[in-house]
Amino acid sequence: MPRPLPLAPGPAGPCTGCPAPCCQQHTVPVEGYDLVRLVRGLGRPWHDLIEVDTYPAYSPRGFCLHAGGARHGFVLRRSRPEAPCPLWDPDPAAPARCTAYPHRPAACRVYPLLAADDEPTGSFVLGLALCPEQAKRRFWLLRPELRPVIDDDLAELQLYVRIVSRWNHHAERTPAQAGLSVDQYVAWLLRLYAELEPLRQPDRGAWQLTAYRLVDRFPVPWQGGSDF
Ligand code: SF4
Ligand code: SF4
Repeated sequence: MPRPLPLAPGPAGPCTGCPAPCCQQHTVPVEGYDLVRLVRGLGRPWHDLIEVDTYPAYSPRGFCLHAGGARHGFVLRRSRPEAPCPLWDPDPAAPARCTAYPHRPAACRVYPLLAADDEPTGSFVLGLALCPEQAKRRFWLLRPELRPVIDDDLAELQLYVRIVSRWNHHAERTPAQAGLSVDQYVAWLLRLYAELEPLRQPDRGAWQLTAYRLVDRFPVPWQGGSDF
């Protein structure tokens, strides 16, 4: 159940009328499936839209390229730190100011909520969210209804953690001089997610475990035989 952003097609929601500071001030993280959706949906090379960021060494979502190497992740590319999201249309008269609405990253789909296991509704509204107070209150009340969006986001994240773990298992044993590139990681991701696509069903419980098994046996470049 996608949440409507201001001026995006769809029924009025908490975002209606908000100038969307979230799209103009936040750095947006991009996880594996986010990258795939953007590249496929917009038909553009990944580095047109996305850049590589450094992740903490302990991050389960940070991929490395060789033994002892830094952990990396992705964010939406911005022309300068204070620039808005590259997919944001600055024209206030535009019919939909997110130009990639169906393909937007998961972080945009759940904002301003944050998943929380100890909350009966599964999430809370970020205290530092940039939403106007009235919108925050509406999101707060909508939490039970938005729970499927949160649950799906968390499950997708778990799948990506599994994928990164498979990659890192090999990368962490690879000497720097034989390390692979980010382009090769992205090419591998695109292939892997293409294999996962036919498994997807509305009910995650019906396919997520099968997806884990596919990830665990999906060939990695170090096994040879594939041109990544
Ligand atoms: S992808 Fe769309 S929703 Fe997300 S920050 Fe950019 S313009 Fe906003
Ligand atoms: S800041 Fe909050 S209310 Fe405004 S568009 Fe973003 S999510 Fe919606």
